[in-house]
Amino acid sequence: MLLCFAAARDAVYMLPPDKLARAIHLSHARTLAHFGGTAWTALILWMLVRMRLGEFIRNWAARFSKRAWVQGLLSAPIWLLILTALDLPASLFMEHVYRAYGISVESWGLWLSDFAKSSVLTLIVGTLAFSALYALMRWSKRRWWLWFWILAIPCEAVAVFVVPIMIDPLFDHFSPLMKSDPALVDQLERVAARGHLNISPDRMFVMDASRKVTAPNAYVTGFGASKRIVVWDTTIQEVPADEILAIYGHEQGHYVLHHIYLGMLFSFAVMLVFFWIAYRMLLWMVHRFGAGWHITSPEDWASLGLILLLVTVLGFLAEPVGNAFSRWEEHSADVYGQEVIHGLVADPQAVCARSFQRLGELWLDSPDPNPLLVFWSYNHPSVSDRVRFAAGYDPWAPGQHPKYVAR
Ligand SMILES: [Zn+2]
Repeated sequence: MLLCFAAARDAVYMLPPDKLARAIHLSHARTLAHFGGTAWTALILWMLVRMRLGEFIRNWAARFSKRAWVQGLLSAPIWLLILTALDLPASLFMEHVYRAYGISVESWGLWLSDFAKSSVLTLIVGTLAFSALYALMRWSKRRWWLWFWILAIPCEAVAVFVVPIMIDPLFDHFSPLMKSDPALVDQLERVAARGHLNISPDRMFVMDASRKVTAPNAYVTGFGASKRIVVWDTTIQEVPADEILAIYGHEQGHYVLHHIYLGMLFSFAVMLVFFWIAYRMLLWMVHRFGAGWHITSPEDWASLGLILLLVTVLGFLAEPVGNAFSRWEEHSADVYGQEVIHGLVADPQAVCARSFQRLGELWLDSPDPNPLLVFWSYNHPSVSDRVRFAAGYDPWAPGQHPKYVAR
């Protein structure tokens, strides 16, 4: 641990030279995979649209049925498979890098089985979503974007509810924390009591992450009755007890500050704007280029490649918006986490700063990321910012007031 303390307030996130070199390489690899991967996907989709693959797939589907919804059930999976195949090189590359740096320790068999499962899920959910979208486009040529948005609201709420119960267990094993580590649950309940939170131990789970990765993590997921806090077993193995309380305090912040709920409201607002822009652009492109690409109208299944291209490009442009919101939530959780462990650990500032330093070292986070990269693609504040904030934040000092957790 390289955390330097002249005084607690001067703590700086630093890495030893070997880890620093790897962290910088990893940051470059992530940038290449993310930005290069998006550009690659957009470029190939653009070429496929221009080569009129949409018309070819639609005509092939039309040979089986004249009904538009049957044509969709045949066309959508083909386009979604193409999209999955386009994502594969970047995913393989990143897995290779994580293995080379010792962060990933899973077998290629396990990695491939996870990739196959998530691809099948994408195929099923994507086909259903596109079937609904095209049905709405056929039904209401001018307002389909609004109806699709209204439909997306309950669908997202149901999705957030079922993910921890039905989807996450397909990929990892979860068990009640109470069963594996009752002493830790006792410690965490002290943090809960400190924040006047009545959280039942059956909402605390441990995930067997260690068969896949070496680095620690914890998160809050679910909605209503499925809402829960999950701690990776790597956290319990790698992190000292007082820092686990700091990490848990941060997660409790997400929990009591209703971050999942706020995130859903935020995404509804973003989606409304997103769908309207996609509608306007699709209309314009079909009007302008449809004749050349053999796309007769937006609701013609031949337009699906173009819609995927628009979603890829607009989704990329929307990233800074979603990530700015996420960084705001993460910072709020950092503030809450540091306040809630006050009185439970000896020196909350040092404990929080050390826990960020440890997370940064184990995940090989770069100490000096490009600000544009942080703005565009960081969903958490950089480790350097988190260490600096934690070391300097002391709302219990005379004249100061804690923001979330009363004295
Ligand atoms: Zn968080």
